Amino acid sequence: MATRGEDGRNVAVIVSDRLARYGFGDGHPFGPDRLAAFVREFSARGLEGRVQLLEPRTASDAELRSFHSTDYLDFVRERSESGTGLLDAGDTPAFKGVYEAAAGVVGATLAAKDAIMAGECRRAFVPIAGLHHAARNRAAGFCVFNDCGVAIEQLKLAGLKRVAYVDIDAHHGDGVFYAFEDDAAVVFADLHEDGRYLYPGTGSAGETGRGAAVGMKLNVPLPPGADDEVFATVWPRVTAHLAKFSPEFVILQCGADSLEGDPITHLRFSPRTHGRAARELAQLAEALGHGRVLALGGGGYNRANLANAWTAVVENLL
Ligand SMILES: [Zn+2]
Repeated sequence: MATRGEDGRNVAVIVSDRLARYGFGDGHPFGPDRLAAFVREFSARGLEGRVQLLEPRTASDAELRSFHSTDYLDFVRERSESGTGLLDAGDTPAFKGVYEAAAGVVGATLAAKDAIMAGECRRAFVPIAGLHHAARNRAAGFCVFNDCGVAIEQLKLAGLKRVAYVDIDAHHGDGVFYAFEDDAAVVFADLHEDGRYLYPGTGSAGETGRGAAVGMKLNVPLPPGADDEVFATVWPRVTAHLAKFSPEFVILQCGADSLEGDPITHLRFSPRTHGRAARELAQLAEALGHGRVLALGGGGYNRANLANAWTAVVENLL
C-alpha cells in the first residue's frame, strides 16, 4: 500500500518475550507457550525482515483507569501480590505478578497504537493481546485487563471521534461490546459462534447498540461448524457496516480459536479467513485516507492454528 512509515516498513509487530509473562501456567489453554508458537512460525516465514519490531511498554495506572474501575484495579493488585485465588468465577486464576503482566499486555497494545498514531507505521500486530472479555470492573474468560477497551478510551482521549472494533474470535467480545454499547464513538462488528453453544452466551443479532449508538453495533452469531464459505457470505456485512461510519482507526481482534481444530470452540475457519479480514480492513482504512489498523491476537488454543492464523494476518497487513 502507498504510504510507508519512516523506515520504509508499513507494519510493526511486537514479539518481545515480555508478552509471554501473561499466561496461566503450563496446561492452561492460555499458557505462556502461545507466544513462542507464533514467533517460531513468524521467523520461519521470514517475516522478521519485512516488518518493524516494536518494543512493548507497561500501561500506566492512569491509562488502565481510563477503562477499568479503581476498585477493580485495587482488587487485581491485591491478588497479584498474594498470587492466590481466582480473578473471576473460575477461568482466570491469579498468579504472582498478574497485575504487571496484564498491564504489560495493555502497554504492548498501546505501544502499537502509539506507533500508528505517530505515523511510524501504518498497521501493527500484537500477538498476546485482544483480551476482549474483561469488563470495566471484573476479569472474565482468561482476560484480566481489556487492552482493546483501554486503547479505545485512549484514542477517544486523543480526540478521535470514531473508532471501529472488529472481532472474528470464536467468542463474543462481550467486554468491549457492553462497555461501549451506548457509545456512538465506537463502531462495533463481531462474528462469533452462537452464544447458545459457546461462552460467554451473548452477542445475539438483536443486540445493535443502545441510546446514541443504536444501529452502530453489528453482532453476527454463527452456527457451530461454520466455515470459510459461511464467513464469506457474512463478511461483506462487516465491511459495509464500517464504511457507513468512516472510522478514523480500526482495531481487529483476530482470535485464532475460530479455526477448525480449536480444542474449546466449534467454528471451522481456515487461516485464509483471518488473512482476508486483515487485508480487507487494511484496504478499507487506506480508502478512508489514514490506513490505521491495529490487529490483536485474541484467543486460539491450538498452537499450530494460532501460528498459522496470526502469520496470515501479518502477511496480509504488509
Ligand atoms: Zn476466544
